[in-house]
Amino acid sequence: MNKIDLLSLTINEIEDLVEKNGEKRYRGRQIFQWLHKGVKDFNEINNIPKKLKEDLKEISYISKLTIEKKLVSNIDGTQKYLLKLEDNNIIEAVTMSYKHGITICISSQIGCLMGCNFCASTIGGLVRNLRAGEMVDQIILIEKDLGKRISNIVIMGSGEPLHNYDEVINFLKVVNHENGLNIGNRHITLSTCGLVPKIIELANLQIPINLAISLHAPDDTLRRSMMPIANKYSIDELMEACKYYIEKNNRRITFEYALIKDVNDREIHAHQLSKLLDGMLCHVNLIPINEVDERQYEKSNKDRIKNFQSILKKNGIEATIRREMGSDINAACGQLRNNYIEQTRL
Ligand code: SAH
Repeated sequence: MNKIDLLSLTINEIEDLVEKNGEKRYRGRQIFQWLHKGVKDFNEINNIPKKLKEDLKEISYISKLTIEKKLVSNIDGTQKYLLKLEDNNIIEAVTMSYKHGITICISSQIGCLMGCNFCASTIGGLVRNLRAGEMVDQIILIEKDLGKRISNIVIMGSGEPLHNYDEVINFLKVVNHENGLNIGNRHITLSTCGLVPKIIELANLQIPINLAISLHAPDDTLRRSMMPIANKYSIDELMEACKYYIEKNNRRITFEYALIKDVNDREIHAHQLSKLLDGMLCHVNLIPINEVDERQYEKSNKDRIKNFQSILKKNGIEATIRREMGSDINAACGQLRNNYIEQTRL
């Protein structure tokens, strides 16, 4: 029998489980609270009956990630974590401190299948999906390590969250709850390379999270040369799905655009992008690309990035340039994990 991963369960599901075992539902709430405070052993839970603990041990377990390595930036306090899962796989998570609180960037899969050719996370392909509990545990563990509350989540680490749709939706339900991590949907951003049918499914759920789309190119030919997913869904189809999302949720979408020298950073691209997004309830986040050892791309220079932004603005498109955090510990998206795997193979 497969044991149940308790950290993947919503409070209601734990209450149901406890009730099925002949106990009062409020015991489920107590257990949920303990789990989300970081308890890893049933014996540390001191206000539930011994019999219930024994029953739970039989049918379930508490997933446990550990910190394998941590790098702290001397410039801005950004922390990059390599975390080990129980099956010895490695994932990355990053925390950044802002005025409005601490944001964590979590992984949704081990590796990634999407194959974007500027991204390090996808180099070794997809190993497996993360369970909701393993996503939750990234936050519980790091919150404990920091000794401070994490207030915002971005699902922008390794993996394509909409390719692990069900577990990500469960994850949202679990972290939202006031008896647990209590991080509201408006404080959560999900970033996708653009799985059109899943964007529509997500739109229909009407969950008020922030949606970010990794666009990176204003036309299909260029996008296809960078992102295999663009062969499956055209930019037109993607824009239709985005418009549907905005209509259903009345929420602004963020388009991420990583600027790569001489590839997608010319004035013509800025004009094409302005035309594409004209009249949409959206915002563009310009990202100076992180140079990845295994990839040939170079970062655009500062002037070009500024110029790109000003063209968008002149055309009425809101655009910001992402601040580069933790540049002294810079191992671009997925690079830390790759380096670690390389080293441990030697
Ligand atoms: N799969 C999802 C989420 C993970 S990637 C997605 O594609 O959105 C998070 C963001 O980092 C995406 O916008 C992705 O395109 C971007 N990214 C990947 N590699 C990068 C690099 N080398 N430099 C800058 N941004 C990168």
